[in-house]
Amino acid sequence: MSRKVEKLYFELMSAIGNTGQPPLCADPEYIDLYFHESKYSKGGSRALDYSVIMKEQEAKLICNLCPFKAQCAEYAIVAEEEFGVWGGLSATERNQLRRGRAPKVVRTVITDDELPIYPPSLETE
Ligand code: SF4
Repeated sequence: MSRKVEKLYFELMSAIGNTGQPPLCADPEYIDLYFHESKYSKGGSRALDYSVIMKEQEAKLICNLCPFKAQCAEYAIVAEEEFGVWGGLSATERNQLRRGRAPKVVRTVITDDELPIYPPSLETE
């Protein structure tokens, strides 16, 4: 771990510690939203697994309410965290930012009309 990563991690953890309240991503009820399997369906298909995408979107919504969002995203980008949602960014989005490319989609706020469109098979009545 580089000194810069150590410093960012320490600062993030200190900021969280100073509030005396862990962020929602640390809640066992939500952890599954942050670290999940591939967005693609199993079996080598490139079809998207919408249940996984929904989990990621929910995690990003929670991050949007988090006072540590910017710090968390900076740490995860610099530390090259490979997995999970950090600071409202997916691993793919962090990789794109690290390479100096604007992510195709950076979710900061999701409005009602932006909610994912379910494939017909997942639609509820
Ligand atoms: S920004 Fe998201 S991942 Fe980072 S501490 Fe807050 S809730 Fe957790």
